[in-house]
Amino acid sequence: MFKIGCHLSASKGFLHMAQEIITLGGNTFQYFSRNPRGGAVKTLDLDDIEAFKDFSAEHDIPYILCHAPYTLNPCSKEEKTRDFAYRAMTEDLERMDLIPGNMYNFHPGSHVGQGTEKGIELIVRHLDRVMHKDIKTTVILETMAGKGSEIGSRFEEIAEIIERTKFGDMLGVCLDTCHVYDGGYDIVGNLDGVLDEFDRVIGLDRLKAVHLNDSKNPFESHKDRHEKIGEGSIGMEAVKAIINNPRLKELPFYLETPNELPGYKKEIEMLKDMRE
Ligand code: FE
Ligand code: FE
Ligand code: ZN
Repeated sequence: MFKIGCHLSASKGFLHMAQEIITLGGNTFQYFSRNPRGGAVKTLDLDDIEAFKDFSAEHDIPYILCHAPYTLNPCSKEEKTRDFAYRAMTEDLERMDLIPGNMYNFHPGSHVGQGTEKGIELIVRHLDRVMHKDIKTTVILETMAGKGSEIGSRFEEIAEIIERTKFGDMLGVCLDTCHVYDGGYDIVGNLDGVLDEFDRVIGLDRLKAVHLNDSKNPFESHKDRHEKIGEGSIGMEAVKAIINNPRLKELPFYLETPNELPGYKKEIEMLKDMRE
């Protein structure tokens, strides 16, 4: 099964998103747990959740991916920012226990001048506090572009976080194609080499999802600007190789391209046509 979807707005609830992704031709989706810039969450509508579960079972939506807000920075210099990260992620994971078996993706964080070592230490501390053995969600760290002081643009950094936390067994990784290309992993010229390296450093069994984006900027530019599929520096041929790669093809692919719904619909159709 080709698991393909895109980022959707959560403002109208879970059932609405599920119906929307089916209309767009997909079968899984990503959404923000709360306003991407942070802030409070709406109370959960339990009827909506029940309706969502029924609809997903009927329409073969295998699982969905919840994305933490961008403002969540577990390795900030400011204690109040780290505290927000703790409270927001704890609350997000509690809410996700109502829809077990899904995934929660977060950006490892930006160390803002404290250095990578200190940053990693704070992220490990955060995970040790936030996670517990009964969580019903797979928590995944996203590979980053290395913009500013972002942690997670090197596979080694992600691996170190996973190795050092008490809950490493429960963690996965999301590979963002725009971010890794920006970060200096040549998925265009040497996809298999990059996957070999991922396997050697992190382990491919950790890879749980792919963010499928083209990039507005050239290789290794550390800028993190997503482009529509086929219109950026990654290009159509490389995207085709990614979605058909034997080591990636069973993973879910999520578009985070600069599109409104009709644009996503077109990209999903195109990708389904390109799937071998
Ligand atoms: Fe992200
Ligand atoms: Fe992403
Ligand atoms: Zn990005």
